Amino acid sequence: MAATTIPVDPFDLVIIGGTGDLARRKILPGLFRRMCAGQMPEGARVIGASRSDMDRAGFQAFVRTALEEFAGETQCDDGAVDRFLDMLDYETLDVFADAGWKRLKKKLRADVIRAVYFSVGPSLFGEIARKLSDHKVTDEHSRIVVEKPFGHDLETAQALNAELRACFDEHQIYRIDHYLGKETVQNLMAVRFGNALFEPLWNAQHVDHVQITVGETVSVDGRGAYYDKSGAMRDMVQNHIMQLLCLTAMEPPSKYGADAVRDEKLKVIRALEPVPLTDVVRGQYSAGGDVDSYVAHSQNPKSTTESYIAMKVKVANWRWAGTPFYIRTGKRLRARMSEIAVVFKDPPHSIFEGEFNRKGNVLIIRLQPDEGITLRVTIKEPGPGGMRLTEVPLDMTFAEALGDQVAFMPDAYERLIMDVIRGDQTLFMRGDEVEAAWAWVDPIVKAWSDARDKPEPYDASGSGPEDSLMLLHRDGRRWREIKA
Ligand code: NAP
Repeated sequence: MAATTIPVDPFDLVIIGGTGDLARRKILPGLFRRMCAGQMPEGARVIGASRSDMDRAGFQAFVRTALEEFAGETQCDDGAVDRFLDMLDYETLDVFADAGWKRLKKKLRADVIRAVYFSVGPSLFGEIARKLSDHKVTDEHSRIVVEKPFGHDLETAQALNAELRACFDEHQIYRIDHYLGKETVQNLMAVRFGNALFEPLWNAQHVDHVQITVGETVSVDGRGAYYDKSGAMRDMVQNHIMQLLCLTAMEPPSKYGADAVRDEKLKVIRALEPVPLTDVVRGQYSAGGDVDSYVAHSQNPKSTTESYIAMKVKVANWRWAGTPFYIRTGKRLRARMSEIAVVFKDPPHSIFEGEFNRKGNVLIIRLQPDEGITLRVTIKEPGPGGMRLTEVPLDMTFAEALGDQVAFMPDAYERLIMDVIRGDQTLFMRGDEVEAAWAWVDPIVKAWSDARDKPEPYDASGSGPEDSLMLLHRDGRRWREIKA
């Protein structure tokens, strides 16, 4: 059964940074896959722009190679690549020079949706916004898409928001966090608010704790110098993990709509308690196998930046008082594993004998690998020999449950770009949300900086620093195993 797709209206999408890594690996292949899925209307155009001196044919050749490398499996016919290349155009443009903007403006059509994707480093975001506005390349109906990182701290995020808002209304600004485009993340909302079963249990009375894990096997090799200025807190927690936490903890919005959902997420961020240093564990991976250590990759022998962080986070409101959220993320861990695990309390009384008697249920929302949802339940161990209990997963791996639909399901970037064209901001971060997240993160970072805190070394291909195990052990809990 093929997934249903609803074509969007005709558009001009300009990608500033159209020759960059993100455009080549994600944006352009994603748009191609949407065309294959039948979602591109007649009259869709994608215009690459960057300083590289090339003409339309040169850009088409560049994109052809990108598709060969990154488009993956598609349901496309033989002529599809040529049809996609036909949609493309290119303009040589230096963000700081006026000439390119004037030429770009002439290329754009008046009667279609206009969106501009800022696929360049964040230092150019403000200037692009000004140039778009000064040259009237955009108007009040246009949309802009802004990549991460959105600021380095509260002050820089506020400054960036001010620069964008000087030229665009909030409803025109699409701040991407690609985690929000993941199928499972949206499924978290479907599971919570589309079933009557879970919501009555979704609170401190029934949930013992929540674990959010984003584990990666990759190192920072190749981007160590950049990463060293950011670290796991800024690179992962402030955006992706905060978003997962918000969607898990938020109150039911009155409807599935941009402001209704974002209002509820914002309330969660504002309810987060400050985190004392005793509830934070930071780590740096050591050398292991044929991979160098973090400090070698960052080319900074004195680096105190964390490639791993674990924290105990408290949401101070009626729903969650007393239920901690443990979050962790790191590079060079044993497996690539991202999940949210909602661990329910043990049954209050056992009528059975034996050690399995009082296991709480666990609902696991898996982002990777094998996106899906699992509910761990207790059942009777099969066979004779009395009433022995065991745990089994009620497993809904999307690939098995949905068959073909999964193979051709849009990835996060595809879905989000189509949302931009549709004008749906539900899965994008609002400016106040980003600022509230930084306002919570900044004092934690300042506290470890003031304390001259050094990250703990951890073995590459393990599950993080020893102290992160202690973070849960001291509360009588344990992390779920990091495994593929
Ligand atoms: P990149 O590979 O360095 O590409 C940057 C692009 O910007 C190039 O096309 C470059 O082309 C263009 N550019 C640079 N200066 C310019 C100027 N003055 N005027 C016009 N164009 C200019 O960077 P990227 O990896 O694609 O990242 C782009 C953005 O996405 C960044 O904000 C990054 O943090 C974010 N991001 C990237 C990834 C990823 O997987 N790559 C993932 C998440 C977020 P010319 O040199 O020809 O001008």
